[in-house]
Amino acid sequence: MSIQPSSPTASAVLDTFQLHIDGRQVPAASGKTFDTIDPYTREPWARVPDAGMQDMDAAIAAARLALDGPWGRMTGFERARLMRRLAELIERNAEPLARLEVRDTGKLYREMIFQLRYLPEWFNYYAGLADKIEGRTVPTDKPNFFVYTQRQPVGVVAAIIPWNAPLMLMSMKLAPALAAGCSFVLKPSEHAPASTLAFARLVEEAGIPPGVFNVVTGLDRGLGAHLASHPGVDKVVFTGSTATGRAVAQAAASQLHGVVLELGGKSPQIVFDDADVAAAANGVIAGIFAAGGQTCMAGSRLIAHRSVVDDLVARVAGRAASIRLGDPQHEATEMGPISNRPQYERIRDYLRIAAEEGATLRAGGIDEQSGGWFVRPTILTGVTPAMRVAKEEIFGPVLCVLAFDTEAEAIALANDTEYGLAGSVWTQNIQRAHRVAGRLRAGTVWINSYRAVSPSVPFGGFGASGLGRENGLESILDFMETQSVWVELGGATRDPFRMA
Ligand code: NAD
Repeated sequence: MSIQPSSPTASAVLDTFQLHIDGRQVPAASGKTFDTIDPYTREPWARVPDAGMQDMDAAIAAARLALDGPWGRMTGFERARLMRRLAELIERNAEPLARLEVRDTGKLYREMIFQLRYLPEWFNYYAGLADKIEGRTVPTDKPNFFVYTQRQPVGVVAAIIPWNAPLMLMSMKLAPALAAGCSFVLKPSEHAPASTLAFARLVEEAGIPPGVFNVVTGLDRGLGAHLASHPGVDKVVFTGSTATGRAVAQAAASQLHGVVLELGGKSPQIVFDDADVAAAANGVIAGIFAAGGQTCMAGSRLIAHRSVVDDLVARVAGRAASIRLGDPQHEATEMGPISNRPQYERIRDYLRIAAEEGATLRAGGIDEQSGGWFVRPTILTGVTPAMRVAKEEIFGPVLCVLAFDTEAEAIALANDTEYGLAGSVWTQNIQRAHRVAGRLRAGTVWINSYRAVSPSVPFGGFGASGLGRENGLESILDFMETQSVWVELGGATRDPFRMA
């Protein structure tokens, strides 16, 4: 089976994709489609179904039915085997899937091929857990009862993801959900819908039964709200902005669905005067200019000791000036375009706000000459903590620089945010490194590094950066319910009017 578009010749210009519902590739019930844009060419490159509520209802119904079918009867051992097969198929198809993601998001090929080659690890890691979920026998104060617990799949999982790394952000949810025995309905972003539709064919090829994995694409942002508040769903997992996360949590609450939310960030990189400044400069670049800063964990606030700040900024600006902007499909390109027009306009607005607030444009800015959605690696100095650019998530290659004198001041500046997704501490002092890491209100702290992730390491945010964690051993339990089973051993007749 190929993950190429389903009918590349259907249109003279555009590749076409179909919804994936109940193991079949189908158009939207209305027959409507929309075009998805390649941010490098700013031209439509693919046509995908513009689904409505009826399509979403069909996907949820298929997911529910799948739980009563062969999938629901499989052991963890069998699910693990299918997941490992899926991992192999992803590995074999990493190249075309990466190319699709580059076309849809403008992210670098060199970044996306790395992500795609790494993706099988999520399915292998959680396949390794699928057959190891145990219950417990529970001692109680009631000798006439034997009590045990068992874990059951939570049921139908609703997943909503953003545009910046669709397959990776999906896999962080799908892999533990499959391991737990759940079925899945995915609503990808309207800005990057193609790769998940292509991926669905690999799920079928792996032999995962129809209805276990469904993908519904549409322009209407109400589609996500419909999914999150649907009575046919049991759990909602969301990655996206904090504002949308709040709306999703409210929609899910209407049905008392549990939620896991991975939201925005304004992550600090703290550089002490005893840091390896060259390594720190490299880490700052990795944190804010990799992926064009369009990543939730972007290290968008550089908080540097006053004695090293100028040297550090000079080094970062020097490297930034040589960053190659261009076609994201080329291996040599270091930054591609911004992924979509609304995001490009948002970054442009923030650069205007920075100027109005009195920040200094030390490097970068909008790349007017390109005529495209390019923003050069940008460094803002003269930033104060009260400025909007220091507080709000820009989600682009824009670094705000703040200086500190004492360790306490560095920690206070780092924590002066509603967010709490990630952060880093750069120092050669091992005591300070751990001391400061422990004081940061952030779900992930890197010491002398930045932007490392693994399926085995919990990831998520404090405060406005989210609720719950993805990745790691415990994540599978988010997709399971604990059931307690009481077995009466005595056989004696009991007083029916009091609790046993
Ligand atoms: P977004 O919040 O605008 O959209 C995310 C998804 O939610 C999309 O699929 C969208 O169609 C859908 N949606 C929109 N309105 C909805 C509603 N009312 N109910 C349900 N679903 C709705 O985010 P985006 O612009 O696509 O992505 C950028 C944001 O994602 C940034 O804030 C970034 O920090 C965040 N993000 C977080 C992480 C993380 O792991 N914490 C990772 C990547 C991105």
